[in-house]
Amino acid sequence: MSNYQLFHNDLPTQASKSFKGEISIDTETLGLNIKRDRLCLIQLRNESNKKIYLIKFDDELSAKKSKNLKLIMENRSLRKIFHYARFDMAVLKENLNINVKNVFCTKIASKLTRTYSSKHGLKDLVKELLNVELDKNEQTSDWSRKKLSKLQVQYAMNDILYLEGLKIILETKLEDLKRIKTFNSIMKFLETRVELDLMGWENTDIFAHK
Ligand code: MN
Repeated sequence: MSNYQLFHNDLPTQASKSFKGEISIDTETLGLNIKRDRLCLIQLRNESNKKIYLIKFDDELSAKKSKNLKLIMENRSLRKIFHYARFDMAVLKENLNINVKNVFCTKIASKLTRTYSSKHGLKDLVKELLNVELDKNEQTSDWSRKKLSKLQVQYAMNDILYLEGLKIILETKLEDLKRIKTFNSIMKFLETRVELDLMGWENTDIFAHK
């Protein structure tokens, strides 16, 4: 198992100042309903030194208790790599009033480049692009429990270990296909997409005729 450090509600200031360049991120929640299911865990990997941080949250989530995390997430000079950023960004906004800036979503990059496939899940991408079998068995476990199991920790870390590798490959594909400009525009629009989700338009195509 890779090394990691576990904290509660926030990163210590010293750790938060060590971030440079890119951060791989994932979140675990009680379920998939953002308004109902709270944030339980955030996994971060500082790609400049490969250090992994897990932040566990108690029932009483508040922006006040997570100030360093907010600073990092809203810092425009740090790039945040997610797989399906739309969900994680909405979770961070809803639970901690964090507006994530400078995002790279591997799922959107995959959809824009791997048009031959209908499979854009993390497991599918990691298998095809990096030839790694990802275990997704703990996905539906109880992330609110006081002490996470070894398997939960392993699963949580697995979800951020390959994001940087995927990003490098997908970025090349975006450039080869001349779709990087479109991709960057979509990344900028994500913040608005997330606002619409949280305002109740998550299942409506607001651009549709009807
Ligand atoms: Mn995950």
